[in-house]
Amino acid sequence: MDEFALIRQFFTGAQAPLSHVERFVGIGDDCAVIPSSQSDWVVCKDMLLEGRHFFSDVDPFLLGHKALAVNLSDLAAMAAKPVACLLGIALPHVDEPWLSRFSEGFNRLATRYDCALVGGDTTRSTEGIVVSVTALGTAAAPHVLRSEAKIGDDVWISGALGAPKVALDLLLKQQESELSASEAALLAATRSALEQPEPELNLALSIKPYIHAMIDISDGLLQDLSHILRASGVGAQIDYERIPIHPALQSLDATRIQQAILSGGDEYRLCFTAAPKYRSDIIQCAVNSRSEVQRIGRIIAGRELHLVDEKQQELRNLPQGFNHFA
Ligand code: ADP
Ligand code: MG
Repeated sequence: MDEFALIRQFFTGAQAPLSHVERFVGIGDDCAVIPSSQSDWVVCKDMLLEGRHFFSDVDPFLLGHKALAVNLSDLAAMAAKPVACLLGIALPHVDEPWLSRFSEGFNRLATRYDCALVGGDTTRSTEGIVVSVTALGTAAAPHVLRSEAKIGDDVWISGALGAPKVALDLLLKQQESELSASEAALLAATRSALEQPEPELNLALSIKPYIHAMIDISDGLLQDLSHILRASGVGAQIDYERIPIHPALQSLDATRIQQAILSGGDEYRLCFTAAPKYRSDIIQCAVNSRSEVQRIGRIIAGRELHLVDEKQQELRNLPQGFNHFA
């Protein structure tokens, strides 16, 4: 049973108290939407486990940053403005210098996005560190949902992809053997994309009037775009050559680049769809929010995701995205 089937089977049953409330959005999008009399509440939770989502020797400042950043990225995916967060943390022992750095990284990002830390829970763990953050934001309807992509929309992504996956592979390799000089240089150029992602909130809030569907890329472009397609009941044709590649990857072989940009997780970039008439508005929003955006294809009828090369030939044997229980 994969991660998504598990959630469907065991955890979708208790949404009843809200399920008939107008504008309620439950399990299945980047955040839930809890309708309110003014702006609606937008809520999400993401958890990081030592040994699975971060290495034991990670700089705690960066871990504190990332624990909040991945949640702010889910708020961005709903074009919601952060308001507050809750921090759950389980620690095997109290390490004050570690906690000082962790909280500095967390608090600095929280302050930058006006996201108040208003509660949480702290406990001793028997093994390893667990960090679980809940983030709350607000957004006015109509909401930006995975289910709103329309046939004829452009498909866009922000930023350039691939660096987090390359950094992760190198950090794993470094545990087994020493890296060559060129590998060490590549790690230095890609590492911050993995360890210190910047949530694209400014871009998300500014493009909201122009877009239909959006998701943040946490499990790989193909898998996350597939969530939009499934939820919207549409297909997509993506031009492989248009997908922006992180500049540090240019010298890598084509297969490795393809793996990294199509199925690499931890990107926290936005993938969104919008009607072609808004192309220049979206580009202007990106300029204003100092982000980069790129049109990579379009939404089509059907249910399939077609990836084509510059000759419009379909690419086959595509890598899969990340799934915890696949
Ligand atoms: P994301 O990558 O945006 O964080 P996920 O793919 O992790 O989203 O989760 C898919 C959906 O399932 C989300 O709406 C999330 O809130 C929901 N979900 C995940 N785990 C659980 C759970 N244990 N109970 C209820 N809902 C869950
Ligand atoms: Mg998400």
